[in-house]
Amino acid sequence: MLRITGGKVYDPANGIDGVIKDICIADGRIVAQAEGGQSIDASGMMVLPGGVDVHTHVAGGALNFARGLVPENQRAARKFLHTPELRSGLGGMTPTTFATGYLYAGMGWTTVNEAAVPILSARHTHEELHDIPIVDKTSLVLMGNNEFVLDLLESDDVERAQHIVSWLIWAAKAYGVKAVNPGGVAAWKWGKDAKTLSAPVEGYSRVTPAKIISNLARIVDELGLPHPLHLHCNNLGVPGNVATTIETMKVLEGRRAHMAHLQFHAYGGDDWSTMRSESAQLAEHFNRQTNLTADAGAVLFGDAVTITADGPWQHLLHELTGRKWGNLDVENETGCGIVPYVYKDRNLVNAVQWAVGLELLLLIDDPWRIFLTTDHPNGGCFWRYPEIIRLLMDVEFRKEEVKKLPAKAQKRIVLADLDRQYTLSEIVIITSAGPARSLGLTQKGHLGVGADADVTIYQEKPDDGRLFTYPRYVIKGGDIVVEEGDVRAVTNGREFIVHPACDDTIEEYLRPMFEKVYTISFENYPVDLERLRRAEVQACR
Ligand SMILES: [Zn+2]
Repeated sequence: MLRITGGKVYDPANGIDGVIKDICIADGRIVAQAEGGQSIDASGMMVLPGGVDVHTHVAGGALNFARGLVPENQRAARKFLHTPELRSGLGGMTPTTFATGYLYAGMGWTTVNEAAVPILSARHTHEELHDIPIVDKTSLVLMGNNEFVLDLLESDDVERAQHIVSWLIWAAKAYGVKAVNPGGVAAWKWGKDAKTLSAPVEGYSRVTPAKIISNLARIVDELGLPHPLHLHCNNLGVPGNVATTIETMKVLEGRRAHMAHLQFHAYGGDDWSTMRSESAQLAEHFNRQTNLTADAGAVLFGDAVTITADGPWQHLLHELTGRKWGNLDVENETGCGIVPYVYKDRNLVNAVQWAVGLELLLLIDDPWRIFLTTDHPNGGCFWRYPEIIRLLMDVEFRKEEVKKLPAKAQKRIVLADLDRQYTLSEIVIITSAGPARSLGLTQKGHLGVGADADVTIYQEKPDDGRLFTYPRYVIKGGDIVVEEGDVRAVTNGREFIVHPACDDTIEEYLRPMFEKVYTISFENYPVDLERLRRAEVQACR
């Protein structure tokens, strides 16, 4: 039993905006009243629901590929030494499993969504997710280039495609469906991309990116998954791609969808020398289409490592930068590319990217539909989120930062004209309440009775003057895990998965296909539920 007294509570999901009230906890959940037990005096502090990251990359094959390809990042990383309470590990660009949990919890975040899992590496991904302590986890399975699905769309057998998607989600023990550069990663197997939404994908005559997007969005809806289709649009990162992004939104009209790392999809211009921000145009469209949510994918200056299933984009990035490049092909399912990268404030393109992420967060008017992410580790590391929060809350500081950009870049952005400052309540929405709602995690992102007791407490007036830099307390599932920004106790997080309905006879279709085209046996393919150890099946609608 735990009672948090005297703190200013910010709980936007329940309409509470800076009200001094007690929060009571029993058996890991928020309750109306709790007698006896421990209490925390939170006078002079803000009490918020724990942070929820809607899009991050923290476990699985791509992370390990990045660690192997860029060992110098590991050498330079912050070291976590073994103590009686903590396991050893490395922080840095791609924190190792235990360190990932310590860093997220140490920042006040208590739930994370691993946004890209190939089914073939799902077993390993779950092993790593299991080893990430404290935080709860969900994961999304990659489906936008799955050849079973694409082949069925080619023959317009959409009903069977739906059963296959459903079967594959459960095989991967995933929570939702992600599509990365729909059709483009399949085309990359022949060195091609999918740049036009209405053009057939290489190797197909009747499958287009638009057809993949609309069918996957429909299938996810019909399966009743808690989180809508999670979409990484075509033409990520390239000048002029705002046209593709807006066209994608038209394809999605009337459907729910989550658009990932929108910053990377909001550029105008014809080439790299004319690239400019189109965040105003994109935000205008997005504001009207209320069925969509998005995350920012904001960029911070400094070192990063880009890791994505978007193989053709990674090859282009390698050609543009001359940096080393790694490419993986995941048979029949997806691909993966790794390129280390540095965002430089003197670089025109990087300066525009930095501005676009902030512009979208400021120009999209409903904070319930745009969430704080850096597409970790692509645009910057998740443990740098407080830097973005400061830029959103302090317009004077932000304008000073804009003035440091190259004059040429300042003409390509609108950030200097934006005076909006985020309120505390809005910060809670974009870091916790909104992502929880978009993920369909009804027990997360709020402090109402029955919610999981994931609570972050910050000083209202921290010594260094910067809000959200480190929490005074973090409570996860009712346990005090962080004090003064340091991890004091380590708990195990859970994994949320879904089990959508599926026609069992689909295995009769899949088994012979498997024997024909896969390099592993059918029996060896699905992840056994027992391997997850702390799984909790969330209901489909
Ligand atoms: Zn991502």
